[in-house]
Amino acid sequence: MALRIEVDPEKCMGGGNCEFWAPKTFELGDDNISHVVDPEGDPEEKIVLAAQGCPTQAIAVWRDDERIA
Ligand code: SF4
Repeated sequence: MALRIEVDPEKCMGGGNCEFWAPKTFELGDDNISHVVDPEGDPEEKIVLAAQGCPTQAIAVWRDDERIA
């Protein structure tokens, strides 16, 4: 079951920390905002690390209805 991952474009300030941790899941766009390209691109723990490492807490991750990061 895929995770539900959301990046808040209002909070994202670019930089690409998330892309560093989970490069197959997040991609920094030409707009300098991170986009989810594949919610199953990386192992769950990497995606959680990416969310926890976001300096502006722009990333939210849910498994089923439970928010895990
Ligand atoms: S780590 Fe956070 S602020 Fe940085 S690009 Fe990813 S979502 Fe945006």
